[in-house]
Amino acid sequence: MNASNPPVIGIIGGGQLGRMMALEAPRLSLRCKVLDAGGAKAPCAGISEEGYVEGGLKDSEKLKELAKGCDVVTAEIEHISVPALEELESLGVNVQPPSSVFKTIQDKLVQKDHFAKAGVALPRYMDTPNVEAVKRAAEEFGLPLMLKSRKEGYDGRGNCVLKSIEDAQKAFDTVNNPGGVYAEGWVDFVDELAVMVVRSTTGESKCYPTVSAIQRDSVCRIVVAPARAPESSRLLAQLTAKSAIDSMPGATGVFGVELFICRDGSVLLNEVAPRPHNTGHYTQDACACSQFENHLRAVSGMELGGTDLIVGAAGMVNVLGTGDMEGTTAALKLAMSMERAAVHWYGKAPAKLGRKMGHINITADSPAEMEKDLKALMDAVGLTME
Ligand code: ATP
Ligand code: MG
Ligand code: MG
Repeated sequence: MNASNPPVIGIIGGGQLGRMMALEAPRLSLRCKVLDAGGAKAPCAGISEEGYVEGGLKDSEKLKELAKGCDVVTAEIEHISVPALEELESLGVNVQPPSSVFKTIQDKLVQKDHFAKAGVALPRYMDTPNVEAVKRAAEEFGLPLMLKSRKEGYDGRGNCVLKSIEDAQKAFDTVNNPGGVYAEGWVDFVDELAVMVVRSTTGESKCYPTVSAIQRDSVCRIVVAPARAPESSRLLAQLTAKSAIDSMPGATGVFGVELFICRDGSVLLNEVAPRPHNTGHYTQDACACSQFENHLRAVSGMELGGTDLIVGAAGMVNVLGTGDMEGTTAALKLAMSMERAAVHWYGKAPAKLGRKMGHINITADSPAEMEKDLKALMDAVGLTME
């Protein structure tokens, strides 16, 4: 750190993840500059000390404007332009993680091929460039079959479950965008797990604990730390996550690694995001150094902060828009009255149905105590365990 001349971090994307990164920066004597198309409405607007560039995340001229005066450029999202990042690199801009990592990750089929080659355990998968290939995948893997857009997917948008072979064309058309389609064999998982892995430009790397990531309609709603899984599975998830990240040359920053735990105890990698992740928000209140702070440390070559839990247990509840602000903020009112709940609000409006508006982190001395608060908050957001 150089307090007299604070390093400047450029962040591609000014949503909630960019905002939470930018909020950590001043404590480390770093300054952030952000690129986003959202104008004054973006969650990051007004927070980045070094300036705000309004423009599309794939616009190479805007990216150059962002990079001006930055010591390092990073991103809060993987759906960005690899050629534009390569151009920045060719101009001498320090991009972390480098464009090669985005290239491997942003196309889910390329990602699968990369991890398969690296020996990481994966669900069965197949390239399905046309509907005949989808039918072949269904024959080989059985039904249901998971079809996924190779690019641009998030929150399950871009995925389609094929249940009957007669629907093959319709399912293919649903997910077929310019990036193409591939198929995955159905995983009859017991639980979904996640591990944040952080790797500094110095080569130092650390894992956060394995957590349970509970989804509804393909959207992460709840996270429980440590994961509700045997210790051996938690350890296996960390080892799998770390080997996946270590397999990508030059990988830096935080990576959100999503995994499945299967009935036989084996662990399969679902996907990797090259950035802080929804399933790592609990680290803000439950670990010595949050995923956002560690991302900034990692991409700017600082020593990494502690990734262990500093509490007995932690939980995170996502607050999604209910269509109006009053309904959306009901859970916040409860959280504000709780001794060990921390509200993280993203400053978005309006509270559109299903929009990620904020999250609540809870900490406790034991899993049993945490579950009590978690249950109350789940009731407040209308969620049940099953
Ligand atoms: P994210 O918002 O995490 O980026 P995404 O749109 O990239 O999500 P995936 O993570 O690929 O989508 O899948 C979304 C969810 O669908 C998973 O969390 C899991 O619940 C389910 N899912 C994905 N792949 C499979 C599979 N092969 N078998 C069974 N369920 C799956
Ligand atoms: Mg994804
Ligand atoms: Mg996912």
